[in-house]
Amino acid sequence: MWEKRPLKDRYQVVIIGGGVHGVSTAYYLTKLGIKDIAVLDKGYLGGGASARTTAIIRANYITVEGIPFFNESLKLYEGLAKELNFNILFNQMGRLDLGHTDAAVYGLRMRTEFNRLLGVDSRMVGPKEVKDLVPPIDLREGKPFPILGALYHPPCGVVRHDAVVWGFARGANNGGVELHPFTEVTGIDRTNGHVSGVETSRGFVQADTVLSTTAGWSSTIAAMVDLNLPLTTHPLEVMVTEPLKPFLHKTISSANLHAYVYQTDRGEVVIGGGVDPYQSYSQRSSLRPIEELAAHTLEMFPCMGQVKVLRQWSGLCDMSPDYAPIMGTVQGLDGFVLSCGWGSWGFKAAPAAGKSIAQLISTGETPDL
Ligand SMILES: Cc1cc2nc3c(=O)[nH]c(=O)nc-3n(C[C@H](O)[C@H](O)[C@H](O)COP(=O)(O)OP(=O)(O)OC[C@H]3O[C@@H](n4cnc5c(N)ncnc54)[C@H](O)[C@@H]3O)c2cc1C
Repeated sequence: MWEKRPLKDRYQVVIIGGGVHGVSTAYYLTKLGIKDIAVLDKGYLGGGASARTTAIIRANYITVEGIPFFNESLKLYEGLAKELNFNILFNQMGRLDLGHTDAAVYGLRMRTEFNRLLGVDSRMVGPKEVKDLVPPIDLREGKPFPILGALYHPPCGVVRHDAVVWGFARGANNGGVELHPFTEVTGIDRTNGHVSGVETSRGFVQADTVLSTTAGWSSTIAAMVDLNLPLTTHPLEVMVTEPLKPFLHKTISSANLHAYVYQTDRGEVVIGGGVDPYQSYSQRSSLRPIEELAAHTLEMFPCMGQVKVLRQWSGLCDMSPDYAPIMGTVQGLDGFVLSCGWGSWGFKAAPAAGKSIAQLISTGETPDL
């Protein structure tokens, strides 16, 4: 997939973190002519949140900044298999965000209108169309969470997460980037207000620019340059069922129930929700979120009552107070660049974020997007 090369003692750009954001940025930097790059990861490539993601790609957000950004990323994903010559198994199955109360439906209506104004394919559908699109969903009346309507977003899809990381990594490597797994950054050196390099488990490496794409570990990297980021790290726990015959052909999400569900090509049903309410760097799974996810899934799909859970897992999310990412340079520390705060939704952002950060590093200008 990519060449193993010796670690040099100097690079133009060092990227800390070989998850989807690190390898995507490295790839787009090569497209802009910057090739003297090392991607360093303390573990194996794509072994952080990028290995644990449920990899839902969509653009039906609500803010005027978020919608165009994620729409651009969705478009990049649509062309990514061709661009990287690597099948990322992008299955654009469509998604329904369910509304169970009048207030929730009102919010979904607003979101739909914002989406449409900014060119994103979304529309509101009533309970009958929800049932047509998702026959096994439970529409019986008198339930605690009746389905009053939904935001339907047809281009939403799911990618094969490791294929995206490997495709970007191979593309970056073909462009000259060195990929160094099992190389932990333990410190960042500064000279006269400029980063000068990184201390690693394999020795000191000089660099003109140091980019951190370390998601749940971003605060620990920022602390190396005395920067206190407004981020907290929370585990996100998800699970998957035993394989079933294909019965669910859309991604279903319910904000009221804190649960989302889709069926994979292998027939397993992926079930996820919100981050754990406490801060932790632990990536172990626990029983309580799984019990809650199971109960909330059965509220939508009682037909799954006898289905067994096959496995569960957990990953780290770097949560910012306003759910917005932190991207860009740092005042007073030339050469240090951040792309973090991607929380539980950052896999879909990786192409647009990587491209934008690459433009910033190459030109020194913040791209419009
Ligand atoms: C369970 C779960 C489900 C999710 N579902 C979705 C989803 O459906 N859709 C979506 O868009 N997003 C989703 N996300 C969020 C998404 O996965 C992340 O935002 C994204 O993968 C972050 O990518 P990254 O490259 O920034 O970080 P990571 O993939 O976490 O990579 C960071 C890397 O930094 C390395 N690192 C850390 N410290 C050091 C150090 N000192 N030295 C060297 N290397 C270091 C780590 O080893 C790691 O490999 C989910 C996340 C989780 C946990």
